[in-house]
Amino acid sequence: MTDALLNDRDLSFQLYEMLDTEALLQRPRYAEHDRGVFDATLETARQLAANYFAPHNQKGDSQEPTFDGERVKLIPETKIAWDAFAAAGFLVAHHDYEDGGLQLPEVILRSCMAYFNAANAATAGYPFLSIGASNLVKSFASIPLQERFLAPMLAGRFSGTMALTEPGQGSALGDLRTRAQLAADGSYRVFGQKMFISGGDHELTDNIVHMVLARIEDAPAGTKGISLFLVPKFLLDQDGNIGARNDVALAGLLHKMGYRNTTSTVLNFGERDGAVGYLVGEPGQGLGYMFQLMNEARIGVGLGAACLGYQSYLHALDYARERPQGRLPDNKDPLSPQVRIVEHADVRRMLLQQKAYAEGSLALCLYASSLMEDARTGTSELQRREAAELLDLLTPVVKSYPSRYGLLASEIGIQVLGGSGYIREYPLEQLYRDNRLNPIHEGTEGIQGIDLLSRKLGPRGGDGYRQYLVQVRTSLQQAAGDPACAPLAAALGQALVLVERVTLALQGQIEADATLGLSNATSYLDLFGRTVVGWIWLRQALLASRALEAGASGSEATFYQGKLHTARYYMDWELAPLESQARLLMAGNRLCFDMQNDWF
Ligand SMILES: Cc1cc2nc3c(=O)[nH]c(=O)nc-3n(C[C@H](O)[C@H](O)[C@H](O)COP(=O)(O)OP(=O)(O)OC[C@H]3O[C@@H](n4cnc5c(N)ncnc54)[C@H](O)[C@@H]3O)c2cc1C
Repeated sequence: MTDALLNDRDLSFQLYEMLDTEALLQRPRYAEHDRGVFDATLETARQLAANYFAPHNQKGDSQEPTFDGERVKLIPETKIAWDAFAAAGFLVAHHDYEDGGLQLPEVILRSCMAYFNAANAATAGYPFLSIGASNLVKSFASIPLQERFLAPMLAGRFSGTMALTEPGQGSALGDLRTRAQLAADGSYRVFGQKMFISGGDHELTDNIVHMVLARIEDAPAGTKGISLFLVPKFLLDQDGNIGARNDVALAGLLHKMGYRNTTSTVLNFGERDGAVGYLVGEPGQGLGYMFQLMNEARIGVGLGAACLGYQSYLHALDYARERPQGRLPDNKDPLSPQVRIVEHADVRRMLLQQKAYAEGSLALCLYASSLMEDARTGTSELQRREAAELLDLLTPVVKSYPSRYGLLASEIGIQVLGGSGYIREYPLEQLYRDNRLNPIHEGTEGIQGIDLLSRKLGPRGGDGYRQYLVQVRTSLQQAAGDPACAPLAAALGQALVLVERVTLALQGQIEADATLGLSNATSYLDLFGRTVVGWIWLRQALLASRALEAGASGSEATFYQGKLHTARYYMDWELAPLESQARLLMAGNRLCFDMQNDWF
């Protein structure tokens, strides 16, 4: 099986050809960097991922974390990996120089994370969560709170979690019941139970900083009554030293299908006299703050799914190039040597489908990371606003397309290997099990569909949507002038018209009856997402066509030919079938809606 984590040529194509990452160097924030810094950072990430994360990926799966009632035990390689990640500065890399950071652009940090996800998604879960939690502390916590908790988080001495879900509520955050009581010293006492909290207990770090959503007593019902609290596992003394254990108890570990080396916990807050919690920001604003973390995490989940799909593709490709089996249909000579299975058209069909999903998903996630970057450091107010609006629109797609199609790439990978795909001696079955989480957490696929259709598009469309249409049309015009890409542009143009017509029809249906109108939201999300990735593939095809036209040769030529051919595949086999789906949506098909509970 291959040692490659990603196709490095593809990553550099995404960063420097699809995205103009070098142009970031013109921005004042990155004035001290150069392309060499970006590339050296990526290479460090690749090596750390290969040396400290990949080697225990399978072991962490087969020897999952245990809890003996007192302590959580993980395989020791996890701590070594965490320490290596922290020592290399990746927890703080994107922060300001004054906070000890390197002011690394978001898109480079996310590309680094792609290597860690590809190497070992479960162990990468710890830094992934911690980076999100520390961003939240940095953005919204008071300066005194930051002074006590942020520096140790960025140094890797403390880790972070996001604690939203409870046994009685998952998708419906407005119903959460964990409560917080104001104490005499101005801090709060938190009571309640949280479930599925990733990284909620372990001994990788001296302390764990839980970012907890809770309701202050007498706060209004629903989302408006939710506040955000920082609740540490251990309290700190005046000087910031670790003190007594806070009233946060691990009720137990959950035993998962995949991502097993990330602890999944049920946490009890306030079994005794209340867990000490510190209010972050203003009361009642907790969900809004948490959305910062959730939006970052949604892009991160998409990226994780893309990388697991990518690994599945690379392993399947490697296997297909090695495995001899059978002969081509026109060869009747039983004494002739067997061909490698990559010679069978049906295996190439599967590999092509995997390539389309894996590379398309990675490109989509890195594009979203570049929008995050532009929303923060864009050179004009207009650029920052437009990037934020476009990202807002696309976030449900960036979360859900890789989660569905990256997972499908993992599933197809099992098929490419045949029986070997199904057994634990090969990595494919674990990649599939790991990837199966991604359509569930950080808002299920169903929730993303509703978010896109009801919140992001709204009754009249939304600014992000208008911008998206303008951008796709610009790409269509550019591609129409290129002989190799003109047919691809025509196919995407037709799909875009369908999306516009379906969107308009569904907006009308929602206005008439929101429950009925949103009943096919997941199908709409799929239609919309597949078109977005069609756009991503058109842009890749145009770059490839131009490079070939300019005389690319050798391995460069084969790389670009692969891109162009996959884009052709995508338009014919992934976009063309959308027409029947669009017809059902436009007609407001109500078969799912009308199914009665007692008819099942
Ligand atoms: C391995 C793992 C790690 C996790 N890590 C964390 C973590 O670190 N922190 C944290 O807070 N949470 C975490 N979660 C929780 C995760 O975010 C939730 O499981 C998820 O949001 C779904 O909530 P639920 O499980 O309660 O399912 P439910 O909300 O009960 O959903 C069940 C089904 O009903 C559908 N559904 C629910 N409501 C609606 C609706 N209004 N309209 C249409 N369909 C609907 C859903 O789409 C889904 O198919 C994790 C979960 C897992 C499995």
